[in-house]
Amino acid sequence: MHHAALDFPFAAPPAPATPQAVAPGVFWLRLALPWALDHINLWLIEDDAGYALVDTGLGDAPTRALWTELLARLDRPLTRLIATHYHPDHLGNAAWLSARCGAPLHMAFGEYLLAHALHAQTGGHDLAAMLAHFRRHGLDEDSLAALAARGNIYRRGVPELPTHFHRLADGDQLRTGAHTWRAIVGHGHSPEHIALHSDSAGVLISGDMLLPRITPNIAVTAAMPDEDALGRFLGSLRRFEPLPADTLVLPAHGLPFRGLHARTDQLHAHHAERDATMIAALQTEQSAAGLLPVLFPRALDRHQLMFALGEAIAHLNHLWHRGLVERRENDGGLRFRRC
Ligand SMILES: [Zn+2]
Repeated sequence: MHHAALDFPFAAPPAPATPQAVAPGVFWLRLALPWALDHINLWLIEDDAGYALVDTGLGDAPTRALWTELLARLDRPLTRLIATHYHPDHLGNAAWLSARCGAPLHMAFGEYLLAHALHAQTGGHDLAAMLAHFRRHGLDEDSLAALAARGNIYRRGVPELPTHFHRLADGDQLRTGAHTWRAIVGHGHSPEHIALHSDSAGVLISGDMLLPRITPNIAVTAAMPDEDALGRFLGSLRRFEPLPADTLVLPAHGLPFRGLHARTDQLHAHHAERDATMIAALQTEQSAAGLLPVLFPRALDRHQLMFALGEAIAHLNHLWHRGLVERRENDGGLRFRRC
């Protein structure tokens, strides 16, 4: 409804693995993803001796074949790699690219550790912990068995991880060639997501925190079952509000856009609407799994089911933290009802 408020200066994405200039010294690189979300945007930034690369693509064979070709074609080497967060489409080739071109990886501490925990299936980040978490939220045994059959999906998208990195923390300044970038940490989609803002370039590399058409997945996971992930996400959006209105936003998915304030308003409105839908459905006691048809009135495949249930729990925890719904443990299962 507010889409008119967003301005898309580029009508179409560049051809796969063909860098296109989007701002002075900043280039757009698009790669395919084998999911319903079928692409990711990476960003090459002119650096003193080559290019800094923001995000690396999924660590699968087609992406690596493309990278091999692209590395041979690029006019200058990669100087450093920056990962916005731990998700496979962003971090999948970090160690692989580092090993090939010697470029060091920069990322947030929490993202680095979480990647390792998921890769090693430890610290409450294993499949058994996820299944127990979803069972507690009412997921049926057939769906649990289908999720169990998938095994360690993180390792499939991120086959190897680096053993050292440069830490990026909130407010850190990073200089690349002509531009200085400030790291803005955001929560909710991942623990310490890094977005990069450059005043001189007039650009915000927003990663998954600000996307033009879809809302990033906000999930509550087994290791932090009582977390208000949605509250943290909405709070993090406020960090972008002081940025200039004409900032060109470079998102990880979709097209670059202007209108970041309209977009944060839309995201607040979207989640408020979802909250209202849930409160209305919670006249009677419900589990998170029981609310899935209300939140997502369409068939979900196993991949979508995992995200959808995590998101339903995030909404329920958010309402619970705000004192709008009450939570009760019944026979090992968590149930929610409107206060
Ligand atoms: Zn992500």
